[in-house]
Amino acid sequence: MCGVFGVYNSKTPAEDTFYGLYSLQHRGQEAAGIVVAGYDEDKKKTVYRQHKGMGLVAEVFKDEELFDKLHGYAAIGHNRYSTTGASKSASNIQPFSLIYRSGNLAIAHNGNLTNSQVLRKELTEKGVIFHASSDTEVIPHLAALSREKEPVHQIYHALRQVEGAFSLVMMANDQLIAARDPYGVRPLALGMKIDPDTNEASYYIASETCAFDILSVDYVRDIEPGEILLIDKISTRTHKPKSLFLPPSKRKARCIFEYVYFARPDSTIFQHSVDKIRRNLGKNLARESTVQQNNGDKHLIVASVPDSSNTAALGFVRESNKINRPARFEHGLIRNHYVGRTFIQPGKASREIKVRSKYNIIRGVLQNRQIILIDDSIVRGTTARMLIKLIREADPKEIHLHISSPPITNPCFYGMDFPTKGQLLTNMFDGAENEQEEIESIRKYIGVESLKYLSLQGLLNSVPKFENETCSYCTACFTGDYPITVADNKGEKEECEC
Ligand code: AMP
Repeated sequence: MCGVFGVYNSKTPAEDTFYGLYSLQHRGQEAAGIVVAGYDEDKKKTVYRQHKGMGLVAEVFKDEELFDKLHGYAAIGHNRYSTTGASKSASNIQPFSLIYRSGNLAIAHNGNLTNSQVLRKELTEKGVIFHASSDTEVIPHLAALSREKEPVHQIYHALRQVEGAFSLVMMANDQLIAARDPYGVRPLALGMKIDPDTNEASYYIASETCAFDILSVDYVRDIEPGEILLIDKISTRTHKPKSLFLPPSKRKARCIFEYVYFARPDSTIFQHSVDKIRRNLGKNLARESTVQQNNGDKHLIVASVPDSSNTAALGFVRESNKINRPARFEHGLIRNHYVGRTFIQPGKASREIKVRSKYNIIRGVLQNRQIILIDDSIVRGTTARMLIKLIREADPKEIHLHISSPPITNPCFYGMDFPTKGQLLTNMFDGAENEQEEIESIRKYIGVESLKYLSLQGLLNSVPKFENETCSYCTACFTGDYPITVADNKGEKEECEC
């Protein structure tokens, strides 16, 4: 996954983008980059300046002098999250910035294209030279090959040819362009700030609205599925950016896992508050739960795996009390916030020390208690297994693991970092006679008294319904129902860029 950000008509575009990316850090911790558009007085035209690097936003942009160089009026930025191997190479760090026959072009992408290999092969045969191994790079090449005159029409032409998930922020000369695939898989929001003295608008684009809050920017609306939004000098005065639309898809397919885990709870994505939906997940999980408190215990102790499951746990406790199953939220696990995904453990770090570096238990809270532990999802099962081992050290009476989403049974081809089918925990127990037997095997493997996943219906009941849409979400990781054909690799999952 990745985070994208864009700003237009700001006196401090690089600084704004830095803070935007800083808020979107959870969407990608491997690399970060900013490309700024500024007017060059000598050349009498807009030039692009950039800085990119591996690591967290604050690490990549730790040198304050960088911001003196990155001056201008518009910028785009990108936080990258990927898995291993080639994607770790510096040439894959976005935004990509290039010069072509119509001038400057820069692009930052969240999502994953499902026909990029096919397109790449065709382009390579035409003589196109690729700089990176990322799927994103086909977009600027397709735009550059377009016979259209205006960059926005060249981009339209390019986006008609790509398939898959894309939420894009781009700059073409002195324009900012945002685009979202017709299925609307990944979120993308538009924000605005009006200068009270000049009445001029500054525009902002971000993967999540938490990036607007840090800059006191007002959320205006989402970029619509299939929309290509053009922001230029005229729209700063009229307050009306122009839109083009790609041909509509048969259905929409917003990634439901963004609500389950990925997005920050203080964000609004797909027009709805993530916090509210996570509470709904907890509420519906409480309704489906069959755990009853032991005789003599006043309350069930509900603990979350911080931070991603805190909100679902609050929803769970509230509903549990409503339906006469007294429950109390407790911080049973404490997370060390300074351990990122890029944390390097010296020596032969075991999986155990990795988990222990990230979480510790509060014995007094857990000891001799009946615990309901809430987590948002189980992917490979490593975290859950290790955490349960850790919690057992506090000697609780019972541990009931509740997951606020259904079992993940399929990889994601649209940008979520889910491993191949073979690496998913559910695959380990594929031979089970039925789902109940499979869950029982997972329960034993993780080592808990009971294991409860939220049902698919419970998940669907927790998320908002969109009017006039029969199918609004992508649930492929839970159901195998893939809304967009995967042309590349005959559907075999390979390394995910973004
Ligand atoms: P594991 O089962 O050990 O692979 O890890 C599952 C945990 O990782 C869950 O508790 C989630 O909080 C978190 N998680 C879920 N999806 C992802 C993802 N796409 N990338 C990184 N972490 C994730």
